[in-house]
Amino acid sequence: MLVFNNQVALKEHLKLNFSSKKLIGFVPTMGALHNGHLSLIDKSIKQNDVTVVSIFVNPTQFNNISDLEKYPRTLESDVAKINTIDNNVLIYAPSNEDIYQENISSEHFDFDGLEFQMEGKFRNGHFDGVGTIVKRLFEIVKPNNAYFGEKDFQQLQIVKKLTTKHNLNVNVIACEIFREDNGLAMSSRNERLTSEERSKASIIYETLKEVKVKFGTENVSDIYKWVEQVFNNQKLFELEYFEIASETSLLPYNEELKEDKYRAFIAVFVNNIRLIDTISLN
Ligand code: AMP
Repeated sequence: MLVFNNQVALKEHLKLNFSSKKLIGFVPTMGALHNGHLSLIDKSIKQNDVTVVSIFVNPTQFNNISDLEKYPRTLESDVAKINTIDNNVLIYAPSNEDIYQENISSEHFDFDGLEFQMEGKFRNGHFDGVGTIVKRLFEIVKPNNAYFGEKDFQQLQIVKKLTTKHNLNVNVIACEIFREDNGLAMSSRNERLTSEERSKASIIYETLKEVKVKFGTENVSDIYKWVEQVFNNQKLFELEYFEIASETSLLPYNEELKEDKYRAFIAVFVNNIRLIDTISLN
């Protein structure tokens, strides 16, 4: 299994071994891989001639320094996990210097307003960081297909916008959310939960499923109130936001646009660990 720490070597390897006729699939990750990540990698392996997985905890997309410091870094076991599905996958695990040289900062992006909704309201500068790293990684790997999880649905829409606005010739492929047995969306941050927190965090998906049942029959403002109440009654959890929003514009539910496709989005803190989830409603 080849692990590249610098972009020059990776680019050289791709150029030498994979002609422009070969399909390159790309799965960007921040490591601490779980079965959700592995499902993206698996899909890419099936649809391409070669798959590149990047493992890089991107500093510019963290708005909270302690979250960045505590983010799990488990390169050795990540490599071993990928190896169990296919040892021809190429891993790119760069240093900060390889990506940013001496200037660790974001470019500024205009994502036509997608960046101001939900995560954008609570994570200042987050999507500039995401845009910066994804654009740089796309320029290095030059993939035909890139795989992103619907768990980070807003990020997925922003990456699609990035590719169209910047004419990046990459096909962005959405992948469904992988969940623990109790319904909790898999996340590298779940590693930091105690077993009690992890088990009780099933409330997040349970709530979203109930929202899906209520949507269409109950008043949307009543649904918002109900969700707030659910979390007010939970000691372990603090609701950061709950939103029912359009899948395309990410704008909050609007009575007049009934034909739009809607999703519920949620962000919850469990003892300073931030968990997000989403469900399609119609
Ligand atoms: P991350 O390492 O958290 O940056 O995630 C890397 C990619 O994996 C992103 O496209 C995520 O949306 C995706 N991903 C993370 N968790 C899941 C999950 N539970 N199911 C499917 N995809 C996921």
